[in-house]
Amino acid sequence: MLLHRLARVSQEVAATSARSRKTALLAELFRDAEADDVPIVIPYLAGRLPQGRLGIGWKILGTPVPPAEEPTLTVREVDARLTDLGKVSGTGSQAERARLVGELMGACTEPEQRFLLGLIGGEVRQGALDAVAVEGLAQATGAPSADVRRAVMLAGSLQTVAERLLADGPESLAGFRLTVGRPVQPMLAHSASSVTEAIDKLGSCAVEEKLDGIRVQVHRDGDDVRLYTRTLDDITDRLPELTSAARELKGEHFILDGEVIAFDEGGRPRSFQDIAGRVGSRVDVATAAEAVPVSPVFFDALSVDGRDLLDLPFADRHAELARLVPEPMRVRRTLVADPADARARAAAEQFLADTLKRGHEGVVLKGLDAPYSAGRRGASWLKVKPVHTLDLVVLAAEWGHGRRTGKLSNLHLGARNPDGSFAMLGKTFKGLTDALLAWQTERLQELAVEDNGWVVTVRPELVVEIAYDGLQRSTRYPAGVTLRFARVVRYREDKTPAQADTVETLLAAHPEVTP
Ligand code: AMP
Repeated sequence: MLLHRLARVSQEVAATSARSRKTALLAELFRDAEADDVPIVIPYLAGRLPQGRLGIGWKILGTPVPPAEEPTLTVREVDARLTDLGKVSGTGSQAERARLVGELMGACTEPEQRFLLGLIGGEVRQGALDAVAVEGLAQATGAPSADVRRAVMLAGSLQTVAERLLADGPESLAGFRLTVGRPVQPMLAHSASSVTEAIDKLGSCAVEEKLDGIRVQVHRDGDDVRLYTRTLDDITDRLPELTSAARELKGEHFILDGEVIAFDEGGRPRSFQDIAGRVGSRVDVATAAEAVPVSPVFFDALSVDGRDLLDLPFADRHAELARLVPEPMRVRRTLVADPADARARAAAEQFLADTLKRGHEGVVLKGLDAPYSAGRRGASWLKVKPVHTLDLVVLAAEWGHGRRTGKLSNLHLGARNPDGSFAMLGKTFKGLTDALLAWQTERLQELAVEDNGWVVTVRPELVVEIAYDGLQRSTRYPAGVTLRFARVVRYREDKTPAQADTVETLLAAHPEVTP
């Protein structure tokens, strides 16, 4: 398949809001793909490189190269060239990378260049694409979309299912079964703005603590225990406390879903970063475990004694969980059996308040009737947590790529220092509507003091309200912290930079990460 075809379809899918049109475009693309194209086409569509990040800076990517007149590159050829690029190392590697990128871009037409630049720069992520791709695959092959969706959850990857389905047809889907030892895509949560809203949407539900740790899927087959992350990486060797905890449980064969967390001496939950650091740590496991001992907290059971529980209502899955796992190792919860019961609703609100007081993130409300389904489908898990917002000052902005070419997109955000200067806290291009993008492009250019073709530095005069999920420690930024999941809420033209939030108040509000 030519890259040109893929780039065009990707652009059309992004440009149309009609789901049926997106599905039809993808179905047509899948019908035309050869088996060897699929492992490249699927990640490219989602905005990912099969090679992972190549670490090519904008200095190289930003150098203009005259485009080719005619499309000639196939996706496989592009993939092979990017693999070569990823292997370049040692002295002179920067120049060699620049040469290879120049050569590749010179072989691309203008739309192909735009597509590839976005892909390599990591700016074309189409998060919602997997769901549409499932429908497209179903349409291309005549398989029921529910079956494709279930196979993707069980295989843990759209790509694996796509390859099998396109090669062997709908019958091949029966080969994807829930198996202990093979990780399943986890069920995810949507957001709700309040407990009330969540109960109104779900009806009878459980209200559970939302713990800020690492998602873990625990598979036990006799003495063999395996642990997987949300992205299905095997972390068995990193967390011996969990494997022993799993061996102590009553069942011999099960798949459980939960969260790994850690507590400090005072019994308060430690920061997400400590736990993430523990899982990702390269020092030997015993030393890491001594510094940050972790424990599992379970909230769901997917399989027990060879029985697949995925399609059972949550209430029944939880009953199985309670049979296997003693209460202290299960997530704390309260039930709202009848959504019309005002006392139960008040108890749910109180449960959220108590949970926050104990230092957790918020709550997750879960419909008692809902089956376990991968991803965010169905919205039967709703998280409620307080949103933090800050008024920050725009220090600079980066020129966008792909659909945002010609627009100032990624904002550099700063909080006030006591001496009136600003400390950069991070960047975001999230939450910006087309109208806001157009507005800020114009406004920031008026404030520009320097434009190096990549970053436009501006006079720090514009205040923007930013929502974020929390702070994390960072050695990259001067205040020693950066924002998690920062997104733009709106511009605050009614505020001056002197009224923006300070580093001091920010750190005081987040004692858990104070450097
Ligand atoms: P978020 O990552 O903010 O979308 O929230 C979903 C994540 O919260 C899940 O992937 C889990 O890692 C985590 N989590 C913490 N407590 C719970 C809970 N009681 N039920 C489900 N997920 C939970």
